Amino acid sequence: MQTYGNYINGEWLTSGPTFENINPANTDEIVGLFVKATAADVDAAADAAAAAFPKWAAMAAPARANILFKAADILESRFDQIAAEMTREEGKTFPEAKGECRRTINILKYFAGEGSRMGGHLVPSERDRVHMFAIRKPIGVVGLVTPWNFPSAIPCWKLAPALICGNTVVIKPASAAPLSAWRIIEALHEAGIPKGVVNFVAGSGGTLGKALVEAKPLKAISFTGSESIGKWIHTEASKRMLRIQLEMGGKNPTIVLKDADFNAAVENVANAAFFSTGQKCTATSRAIVEDEIYDKFVAALVERTKKLKVGNGMEAGIDIGPAVDEAALNAILEYIEIGKKEHGAPVVGGNRLTGGAFDKGYYVEPTIFADVKEDARIAKEEIFGPVLTVHRASNFEDALRMANSTQYGLSASVQTSNVSRVFDFVYGAEAGLLTVNLPSAGVEYQLPFGGTKDSSFGPKEQGPAAFDFYSDYKTIYLKY
Ligand code: NAP
Repeated sequence: MQTYGNYINGEWLTSGPTFENINPANTDEIVGLFVKATAADVDAAADAAAAAFPKWAAMAAPARANILFKAADILESRFDQIAAEMTREEGKTFPEAKGECRRTINILKYFAGEGSRMGGHLVPSERDRVHMFAIRKPIGVVGLVTPWNFPSAIPCWKLAPALICGNTVVIKPASAAPLSAWRIIEALHEAGIPKGVVNFVAGSGGTLGKALVEAKPLKAISFTGSESIGKWIHTEASKRMLRIQLEMGGKNPTIVLKDADFNAAVENVANAAFFSTGQKCTATSRAIVEDEIYDKFVAALVERTKKLKVGNGMEAGIDIGPAVDEAALNAILEYIEIGKKEHGAPVVGGNRLTGGAFDKGYYVEPTIFADVKEDARIAKEEIFGPVLTVHRASNFEDALRMANSTQYGLSASVQTSNVSRVFDFVYGAEAGLLTVNLPSAGVEYQLPFGGTKDSSFGPKEQGPAAFDFYSDYKTIYLKY
C-alpha cells in the first residue's frame, strides 16, 4: 500500500498518521494512504510559499511556462495510469476520467502558453511626452481548496493560472479524492518547480481550511465546493481582506421546447442529469418541458434512463459509476426519500442498488421525479447526485421564469430550433454558463467559467478571465 506524503518547501513529508483513499466502486480497495497534514503543516507550507515568492515572481513568465509544459508532458506519459487512479478514487467511468486527464493536460498547456502572451495595457496619454501603461503583477501566496468531483481538472485550473502569473501556492484537495491532485504536484516537482513555489497539504477540510484562511502570508483564496463552506470561507477571509474566489452549488435547469430536436434533447438531458453520477456542478437537475411534448418527453427520457448501466467505472460499457462516498450516497438517498414523501414515487429509479458487486460500493439508481411542484425541496435544493425533477411549462416564458426561480445560477441549457428563443434565453437566463442544444454540463477551459447569484463569488475562473483573480495591475505614468 503506497503512502502519499504532503509536499512542503520541495520536500515530500511521508511520516505521521494517515487516512485512507477508498474506491467508492469497491470499498474493499484502498487506493492509497495519505499523510494527514496538520495546521502547523499549513503554516509551514504558507511560509515556504512566501519565501519562494520573490524569486518566482521575478522569473520571466515564459520560463515559468517551461515548467508547466514539462509537467504536462510528464502527465501525458502516465495518462492511462492517472485516469485509472481517478476512476478508482472518485468513481467516474474510465472514459470520463480519460476525458478529464486530457483536459488537465490541455489546461496546463493553455496557461503555459499564456506565459508568452500575458500583456497589460498601453494607451496614449492626454499629456505631451507621457508614456502610460499598466503591467500585470502576481498577488503573492494563494490558497486553493478543491472538491472531489473533478479531482484533477479543478486543482489544475486553479494551479496553472496562479503559477503562470507568478504566485506561489498552497493547495488542499478534497479528502475523498486527493490522488489526482497529488499527481499534478508530483509532475510539477519532477518538472523542476523551485522549492516552496507549490505546496500540497491533504487532510481534514475543517482543520486545514481554518489554518489556511488564517495563515499570515496568504493574500488570496480560491475555493470550489459547497455553498455552506464557501460562505464560511467568505466570512473568515473577508475579515482579513483576502482576495476571494468562490465556485459553489447549482440547481441547473434544461428547458426543452416543443420545436427541439426531440431525440437529441432526450439524450442531452439524460447525459447532463446522470453521467458522472450527477456529480457535476453543471449537471442538469431540473428539466422544464413545454406542455405539448411533456408526456412524450418524460416517457422517452424514462426509457433512455432505464438503459443506463450503473456499475464499476473501470468495466467496459458502464455509463454511471457510484456516488463518491457513503456520506454522498446517504445525502442522495435522503433527498430521494424527501421526494417520495413530498411528491410520491419517482417515475424511474429511487433506490440504492444492492446485491453482488453493488454491495461493495455506493451505487444508486438514476432517478426521475415527474410533474414536480416548483417549490418542492427536491426542485430547489442541490442534491448533487443522479436525481432529476421534471416540470411542465405552458410556454417558453413560463419555462424561463421557472428556470430562474432558484437561488443558484451556475449553468442552464435550452433545447430548441427557434433562433429567437435562443437569444431570449441567452439574454434572459440567470446563469453564468449557458448551453444551447448541448448538455448543460461539459465545459472547455478557453472561456470564463463560473456562475451568478449564490453559485459564485468573485472573478471568474479559466480562460483569459483567470488572470483577473490571480494577478493585479501596476499602472505607470512616465514623462520622457
Ligand atoms: P465541500 O464539502 O464544500 O468540500 C470542498 C473542499 O472544501 C474540500 O477540499 C473540503 O475538504 C474543504 N473543506 C471542508 N470544510 C472546510 C472548511 N471548514 N474550511 C475550508 N475548507 C473546507 O464540497 P464537496 O462535497 O467536495 O464538493 C461538492 C460541492 O462542490 C457541490 O456543492 C458542487 O456544486 C460544488 N462544486 C462547484 C463547482 C463550481 O465550479 N461551481 C465545481 C465543482 C463542485 P474535505 O474534503 O477534507 O472535507
